[in-house]
Amino acid sequence: MDSFDRTHTSLRLSVTDRCNIRCFYCMPAEGVRFLPRSEILSFEEITHFVRVVVPMGVTRIRITGGEPLVRAELPTLIAMLREIDGLEDLALTTNGMLLGEQAEPLKQAGLDRLNISLDTLDAAKFERMTRRQGLEQVLAGIDAAQRAGFASIRLNALAIRDETEEEVVPLVQFARSRGLVMRFIEFMPLDAEGAWQHDRVLTGEAIRGILERDLGPLAPAERTDTSQPAVDYDFADGSGRVGFINPVSEPFCGACDRLRLTAEGQIRNCLFSTTESDARKLLREGASDGAIEQLVRESIAAKKPGHGIDDQTFLRPQRAMYQIGG
Ligand code: SAM
Ligand code: SF4
Repeated sequence: MDSFDRTHTSLRLSVTDRCNIRCFYCMPAEGVRFLPRSEILSFEEITHFVRVVVPMGVTRIRITGGEPLVRAELPTLIAMLREIDGLEDLALTTNGMLLGEQAEPLKQAGLDRLNISLDTLDAAKFERMTRRQGLEQVLAGIDAAQRAGFASIRLNALAIRDETEEEVVPLVQFARSRGLVMRFIEFMPLDAEGAWQHDRVLTGEAIRGILERDLGPLAPAERTDTSQPAVDYDFADGSGRVGFINPVSEPFCGACDRLRLTAEGQIRNCLFSTTESDARKLLREGASDGAIEQLVRESIAAKKPGHGIDDQTFLRPQRAMYQIGG
């Protein structure tokens, strides 16, 4: 628990900073310098860390990156984590490019839930936004994920002004036709190229306006899981659900229950932290579990009340989203 009485039950675990596409809101177009292999935690080191934090109260893990599916043998890690008693929920966030081949092995290994990023259904726009081709591959990945039978699959789109407006209705119609929930995430100042500006955030409220205008009225859905940052709405005609994650226009830091471990084993108590705690050093020195636990406690104790994006004194973290693990 931190000094603002927030209990931390959720761990975001980045397994790589590498990625097979180059979304402009996350990575630079050219010249990315990825971490050398030796700096990335091994599966054994990751599992060791998780074995320490689960008895401390972490019950949910989300695997992320970079693109987690480019990490070799990922199903092996899923199976190793699945064996840990007390871990209730194991989820993963992916761009979907490699799900065609990996959805089934990941499900078999014990992965519970998937979030798949999908910003557009227009192939040319996909290529412009990600600087790579691949929309068809992502759509095939979504098919494979649905066939594999995950307990829950959500589709996530970034909400960026002058980019996302025209995608909103097609994306929601696509998700509804698949029986999936589409969620929109406000653009945060975590892009590698420093292009974020406040007026580039397309707010959840603005997207709701577009949906109500074009598809009909929305009513707030009953909130079953208060730790979820998404606020869900149902179409009044029963045709489906849509979610909004509004970290910029409606910060949810007061209910934050997350800690993060970067691919190279640094504990972060916030996406926007400007400091980190070096768990890898302890893991590699053969330190005791108690020492690792103490480092986690110190990191959480130092957590700030909120991200402060709108504060005069706000400092962008030095790392971009792909280097932290979104
Ligand atoms: N590669 C995977 C993917 O894209 O789903 C997982 C890692 S990605 C960093 C995790 C999530 O962060 C994605 O949903 C992505 O859209 C989101 N994201 C990336 N950059 C962001 C930014 N600047 N603001 C808000 N969300 C961002
Ligand atoms: Fe890769 Fe995900 Fe970042 Fe896009 S958002 S560049 S898919 S890590």
